[in-house]
Amino acid sequence: KIYSVHFTPLKGSDRGGVVALFRDVTEKRQLEQLRNEFIANVSHELRTPMTSIKGFLETLLDGALDDRDAAEHFLKIMSAETERLTRLIDDLFALSNIENRKVLPKKEPILLEDVVEKVVSILGQSASDKDIELTTSMAEDLPRVMADEDMITRVIINLLDNAIKYTHTGGRISVEAGRDGERIFVRVTDTGIGIPEESLSRVFERLYRVDRARSRECGGTGLGLAIVKHILEVHGGSIEVTSSLGRGSTFTAYLPL
Ligand code: ADP
Repeated sequence: KIYSVHFTPLKGSDRGGVVALFRDVTEKRQLEQLRNEFIANVSHELRTPMTSIKGFLETLLDGALDDRDAAEHFLKIMSAETERLTRLIDDLFALSNIENRKVLPKKEPILLEDVVEKVVSILGQSASDKDIELTTSMAEDLPRVMADEDMITRVIINLLDNAIKYTHTGGRISVEAGRDGERIFVRVTDTGIGIPEESLSRVFERLYRVDRARSRECGGTGLGLAIVKHILEVHGGSIEVTSSLGRGSTFTAYLPL
């Protein structure tokens, strides 16, 4: 990499100071480049459903409107694309708010088993629609953790929603909560499609998807895990993943006690 960096040496600075400034400038450029890439990617993500909606609208205006069955079919696709757009915008907004620390966690003592129970009641139906066996296992006497309930609900929703999306019909998913030293964890394990090793470290990046088409088909935005990672970070927690291609994945979210 070649960087052309122009700066006047700082008064009274030694070599160390100059080197530090150089590094600082290149880091800033890299950040800027990342941001530009992200904006380009977001534009692309927004354009795809817009192009599809526009295409169907034009077809309808060109006469397909008179064919009731075709019109209904097109309108259903347009409705699904609109939902995707809304989800994408909501996720972008949520991510940007958390990243910029605009929304700080409203910490209160919460019981993770209550949150897990709530999430299972929200997503249980989509698991059973795919004949997926969903089990939960909570360690006894789990202490409360200081956390923002809505944010942690979102973390568990995103993890369980992914597990359901990326597990075949008839598979199994378990949600487990327990204590590991001074941390509380929630672990979601599935018998799904798994993640290739080279992608494991990238799945938490914004808009990264192993299989773009599959994610799209499942209604994904590519932002779910980035949101998960950021929420856990603002709580002083972390997220880990292990996976075996074709066999399944395990995501473990940690929160400090
Ligand atoms: P998406 O909206 O595409 O699901 P996420 O940020 O939630 O976006 O996840 C990023 C990518 O990580 C997904 O597109 C998928 O390729 C992979 N992934 C996430 N969870 C799982 C899982 N449980 N099993 C297999 N792949 C997964």
